[in-house]
Amino acid sequence: MRVLMIAPPGAGKGTQGALIAAHFDIPHIATGALLRDHVARQTELGRAVQRHLDRGELVPDPVVLDMVRLELLAAKAAGGGYVLDGIPRNMQQARAAYLIARELDMTANVALHLKADDGELRRRLLARAALEHRSDDTDEVIRRRLAIYHEVTHPIVSWYGERGILVSVDAMRPVKDVGREILAALEVMRALVDHVPAGARRPIDLTSLGVAFGESAPV
Ligand code: ADP
Repeated sequence: MRVLMIAPPGAGKGTQGALIAAHFDIPHIATGALLRDHVARQTELGRAVQRHLDRGELVPDPVVLDMVRLELLAAKAAGGGYVLDGIPRNMQQARAAYLIARELDMTANVALHLKADDGELRRRLLARAALEHRSDDTDEVIRRRLAIYHEVTHPIVSWYGERGILVSVDAMRPVKDVGREILAALEVMRALVDHVPAGARRPIDLTSLGVAFGESAPV
């Protein structure tokens, strides 16, 4: 199974990415965690990106793309599956990551989009700040990360819709409910991907059930 995740900060990418990786026994490639590890170890790369992370800004594309190429090569050696968490974050990264994956013959089967509204995301990130002390979980930096998500990351979602690999999930619910829905959807997709080419599929939107029952839609 080859999955990439598109989600705003605080939607639960890391948690759900780990769940998917454990369930399918595939590597979890989380760019934010890899970058934070470089910063913690004060590697050359870590020193170069620390300022970007602290400010909640994207690090330069070539840095993450080189890192991801190495991780994908390792994933290929380990069997070919992966869950990518944290990349792509803009359209250039989406195209570049697609080309890298195509060259390695391991393009994503599913683009998993986690939806949640800004109020809930801000609450979750501030709650996490009290526990984890990430340098970017402050009010001002959270605002910047959410703004960047809306401006440059969210627009990629429709690109995956056009490619036929998009699955959207409502991430406003308790983490276990979201996880259960994700695994159910991915199990169905796993059965499907070898038989139905992406071009013949339609985006799957699991976020609108509540709307049918009179609730307001997540954004
Ligand atoms: P979150 O989604 O909560 O912001 P991440 O752990 O995914 O958390 O990312 C943390 C930070 O790492 C980002 O704010 C950014 O500075 C950097 N980062 C992670 N992935 C990328 C990427 N693909 N391109 C550029 N910067 C990235």
